[in-house]
Amino acid sequence: MVESKWPLLSVEEAKRIVRDQVRPLEVVEVPFDRAQGLVLAEDVRAAEPMPPFPASAKDGFAVVADDTTEWRRIVGEQFAGYQADLRVEPGTAVRVTTGAPIPPGADAVIMVEFSEVRDGFVRFRRRVEPGADIRPPGQDIAQGQRVVAAGTVLGPAEIGLLATVGATAVRVYRRPRVGVMSTGNELVQPDEQPGPGQIRDANRFSLMAAVRNAGAEAFDMGLAPDTLEALEAFVREGLEKYDVIVTSGGVSMGELDLVKPLLERLGTVHFGRVSVKPGKPVTFATALGKHVFAMPGFPVSSLVAFEVFARPALLLMAGWPAERVERPRVPAVLDHDVHHTAARTEYQRAVVRFNRDDGRFHATTTGFQGSGRLLSMVGANALLELPEGRDHFRAGDVVEALLVGAVRT
Ligand code: AMP
Ligand code: MG
Repeated sequence: MVESKWPLLSVEEAKRIVRDQVRPLEVVEVPFDRAQGLVLAEDVRAAEPMPPFPASAKDGFAVVADDTTEWRRIVGEQFAGYQADLRVEPGTAVRVTTGAPIPPGADAVIMVEFSEVRDGFVRFRRRVEPGADIRPPGQDIAQGQRVVAAGTVLGPAEIGLLATVGATAVRVYRRPRVGVMSTGNELVQPDEQPGPGQIRDANRFSLMAAVRNAGAEAFDMGLAPDTLEALEAFVREGLEKYDVIVTSGGVSMGELDLVKPLLERLGTVHFGRVSVKPGKPVTFATALGKHVFAMPGFPVSSLVAFEVFARPALLLMAGWPAERVERPRVPAVLDHDVHHTAARTEYQRAVVRFNRDDGRFHATTTGFQGSGRLLSMVGANALLELPEGRDHFRAGDVVEALLVGAVRT
């Protein structure tokens, strides 16, 4: 038997090596409205309180809460957007709209729904406490308060807060630029009709999509034939242009599996085999300060290996806090028996649902789990992590599910 020279690492060992090798990329300044999905590199604070002035929370009348006058004279209107020269005293009221500054003298707002207006006077069907429907300055944001913390992934609410406090340029970690290439003499472009012995290249496109899903920028490096010269030219160009290269194919034990020896010559191969199914020959290397993930050729293997090893690396490079780069894990009850090879950690593709009746997550695998069967990933929202050392799971057994998509209910 021909033995691989590469030691077989556990999934945990391999993941630890990846974590130890990658660093966050540089911090750059970008317009806040272009920062969605990026990670903030430093705290953002509010220079002013929000609201900046006592503001009405409702459309209605600004009044003195303890005023017992039945019909109060309407002395003017204070709408949102300016400061009128008005004062409220017992016996009077000022019309206000939501967001309007509260006129001096008033200490409450009574909603328009409880008012009756006649000949320039108003009376109310309801009494209110002092402070009612007034938003005091700083109620939402105190002056000087940290509104978005360093390490936060910027989403809709954070972008809105940046706008609120006028933080129009923000310092964030740069998005990783990832070059994706396929290797294999048998591969043709998706718009070509494959000839005898040929197939269409799927991995470059599934991996570029996975790169984008991880918030990184994907670049199409094309299709490399299985010659050392061509591969070297592709990889060297990628190392120059991108932060990370993701390749697929050419890492197993075949005659034309040239990727590992090439990476060894250009840099350091951190691992060349992992005890994982699918994806055993997955390879991770560093050359010229750039990282290379060399994925196996089978379409499912390449995507699962990307998910398990490359995705966390891209997130760490993008500045994500370490505790957030792994997928959430939940215990899931198997809905059916599952066969598993005890020799390796296996990631089976599954649909996980939350069952209200028993309050537990349930998992159903997506059918035949062949490494070439991309259809086994379609619709899957979870990878079931079946550990080494046990070769059969029965319906009702509980396994670890890594949630890669939204849980169904
Ligand atoms: P390899 O790892 O290069 O030996 O490839 C393993 C299997 O995956 C072979 O059947 C290849 O034809 C197939 N394969 C490799 N690369 C791709 C690709 N980019 N798209 C689809 N199938 C591929
Ligand atoms: Mg190949």
